[in-house]
Amino acid sequence: MSGYSDWLQSPYSARVWLQTSMTAKAQFAFVNPLHRLKHWIASKGKRVDCWKQRDKECFYCNKGIDQQHEYAYGVYIGKGDAEIKYLHTNLTTHTHIQNIFSQFFDESQNPCDLVFAVERTEITNLSGVRVLGYDIKQIDDEEMFVPEVLRPSPLSPFQNLVRDFKWIVPEEIVVKLLDYDSKPFNLIDLFLLIKQKAPKLPDKTAKSYAVRLLENGVLDVKKAKEYRH
Ligand SMILES: [Zn+2]
Repeated sequence: MSGYSDWLQSPYSARVWLQTSMTAKAQFAFVNPLHRLKHWIASKGKRVDCWKQRDKECFYCNKGIDQQHEYAYGVYIGKGDAEIKYLHTNLTTHTHIQNIFSQFFDESQNPCDLVFAVERTEITNLSGVRVLGYDIKQIDDEEMFVPEVLRPSPLSPFQNLVRDFKWIVPEEIVVKLLDYDSKPFNLIDLFLLIKQKAPKLPDKTAKSYAVRLLENGVLDVKKAKEYRH
């Protein structure tokens, strides 16, 4: 039994959302969402970008239409699927999610390592008013959808736009080594494991990957990546 809905997905973009009372599973790709300023154009029935955010004259600001804050969270929505989808939230939901994240950080736990049940429901805003938003609850014992090594850099402010790193050890090999991450190895055993997972790899290359991934006698798959800054 699951009791979880599938995410509603845009056929045109990476956007996902839920309707009221729906609950679906997600793992957050990063802690800080993309912040966008928008205007709701009632006559067109849609939201448009505010050009002030790009330091340009904004037609809608000039007309006196309120700016709205939109926070797009990158999420993974399925086991083993490292494609980031975007959940657009309002300020109330954003504040709510950040409060929950800080509780996990207080316990030295990275919320991006967890899978959450995301529910479209009413939450309380900072003025004490109930508004429609998203609530999140950790799902115990749910295996994470995407391991850290396959997620964007948490250090980059544009983490959700550019994967600003290169693979020193190719991703397809790293994926096969994930089960052994953080386990103790000597160089020979790790070399043999890499050869077993990628038999066509030349010995010299396999050895260089083993050297790269070994940190104080432990396999560290994060070292497969090198950040550009
Ligand atoms: Zn504007």
